[in-house]
Amino acid sequence: MIVGERKPLQEIIKAVEPFEKILVLGCGECVTVCMAGGDKEAKETALAISVARKRAGKPVEVKSHTIERQCEFEYLEAGRKLIEDADVIVSLACGVGVQTMNMHYEDMRTLPGINTTFMGMPFQQGVWVENCLGCGNCVLEETMGICPIARCSKSMLNGPCGGSQDGKCEVSKETDCGWHLIVERLMKFDKLSALEEVKPPKDWSTSHSGGPRKMIREDVKL
Ligand code: SF4
Ligand code: SF4
Repeated sequence: MIVGERKPLQEIIKAVEPFEKILVLGCGECVTVCMAGGDKEAKETALAISVARKRAGKPVEVKSHTIERQCEFEYLEAGRKLIEDADVIVSLACGVGVQTMNMHYEDMRTLPGINTTFMGMPFQQGVWVENCLGCGNCVLEETMGICPIARCSKSMLNGPCGGSQDGKCEVSKETDCGWHLIVERLMKFDKLSALEEVKPPKDWSTSHSGGPRKMIREDVKL
């Protein structure tokens, strides 16, 4: 899922200062699950804006609403009346949702209310980890199901590097060395000899390094 955190409330309050009718728009998908931008957070944000503006002696009309999915045009119609009634939208969706809103309602301003961070796995309550960078050519089969792109700080295909110590990466004692984990899995499955095979350089053109990407599936395209 896409993981992010709501922007600091003060930042959101400042961003909507010039506006009189504000709609805080939550999204019912990833940001609801990661407790950053669902209905609860949309209501809280709207309340915080309203209280701050009353205190400042400049009361405003603030509403909140949650759309099932902000990253798809068809779902955005569900909120049209509320959206068009507002002077500005604060979107609590990920960056994809904010951009979809700005495309679909191009005459309106939709501001980001979330700092979108990464594709994450909910590891435990309140903890998410980045296990995939969407490189466009998955090598998990060769690395025992542990991603060397996301979980090695250098995205090395032939690891570990000399900085791996006691299972930790040289960038931080808090960071597991992805390649240490891969080696442990190789040992567990008696496949350590796989390390002798030197992997050729990866073709990064399938990743974001190749520029903005677009995926076209002719088999499902209308
Ligand atoms: S190899 Fe690429 S697609 Fe596979 S998990 Fe890693 S980043 Fe994601
Ligand atoms: S210590 Fe491990 S995770 Fe860190 S850069 Fe080296 S191989 Fe990658």
